[in-house]
Amino acid sequence: MAPPQASEPIHEFGLIRALRRQFSHRDAEVIRGIGDDAAVISASPKQWWHVTTDLLVEGVHFNLGTASPEAVGYRAAMANLSDLAAMGATPRYLLTSIAIPRRCSAAHVDQLYGGLMKACRPHRVSLIGGDTSASRGGLFLSLTLIGTTRRRQALLRSGARIGDALYVTGTLGDSLAGLQILTRQSSTRVAKPHQRFLIHRHLRPTARVSEGQWLNRARRASAAIDLSDGLSGDVRHLCEESRVGADIELDAIPISPSCRAYAKSSRQDPTQLALSGGEDYELLFTVSAQHQPAVEHQAKKAGYRITRIGVIRPRRSGLRIQSQAGEWRPLPLTSYEHFCS
Ligand code: ADP
Ligand code: MG
Repeated sequence: MAPPQASEPIHEFGLIRALRRQFSHRDAEVIRGIGDDAAVISASPKQWWHVTTDLLVEGVHFNLGTASPEAVGYRAAMANLSDLAAMGATPRYLLTSIAIPRRCSAAHVDQLYGGLMKACRPHRVSLIGGDTSASRGGLFLSLTLIGTTRRRQALLRSGARIGDALYVTGTLGDSLAGLQILTRQSSTRVAKPHQRFLIHRHLRPTARVSEGQWLNRARRASAAIDLSDGLSGDVRHLCEESRVGADIELDAIPISPSCRAYAKSSRQDPTQLALSGGEDYELLFTVSAQHQPAVEHQAKKAGYRITRIGVIRPRRSGLRIQSQAGEWRPLPLTSYEHFCS
């Protein structure tokens, strides 16, 4: 590879691809390295370990003006739990590294860990280590979460096959709408219930851990990814890993009544919020034609909201979206990317 020029801009996913090409060396125990929601290691004869890590940077991923330290800790844990949900894994062990600026008090750090452990407690995750530093910039928080599945049993991004249906859990766009409300409104004491719902969806997302385990248990899904950057980007990642294309029906994308009401009042297209909004932490997954009736039936019985939004196509047809008028056009990339967004 040619050495990069000093003036060359960085593209997040280009950088990751280059690192993967250059350095990801495989040993027999590495089932998945770079390229999925978590790395997968064959740790014992019975188990696979799933390892995910995330770095949260003040001013980039959160702003202490719009989110309390407690909410920051909670959301950080949810981001990691969501990656393990996308693997169908059971979360087990957590390591936390933190760099603390001088202006943060002990009470702030206490609240941050309070939020973090509150998100982890229902899953009985144990904090097993980490690192602590002072920061001359903002607050930095890095989490590493380890989960387990049975051997040879995991939801990977690479398993989608032509003809499989594409599904999502929950509703999309709520988190971005909530963030916009928090950012635009000077006071967080908003009166309207739909705004409170959206703010809650942003500050208190729910990782779909039990849905992921359910999809994995009986191999109901052929592939999965969590929606952390936005549907338009994350469907791309799943399709790249599976070497397929996809058709998405715009009208089928599930959008909450609150998100629709907010989009109307702020003169935005709700489907744009759904396509580009990151941090919904819903799951995008694929199911073969054979398993669709059972999946839909069982989801209904278990109270899991799932919606079929499209179908997997051959790679050569690319990623397409059907407009309200019924025309197919290339899916625009509007989701979050570091250094570009
Ligand atoms: P997610 O949104 O699911 O957390 P990312 O988009 O952050 O996933 O990362 C995609 C893949 O690239 C993952 O396998 C991740 O481990 C890997 N990755 C991201 N950044 C780096 C890096 N700096 N070095 C090595 N691998 C990376
Ligand atoms: Mg992910």
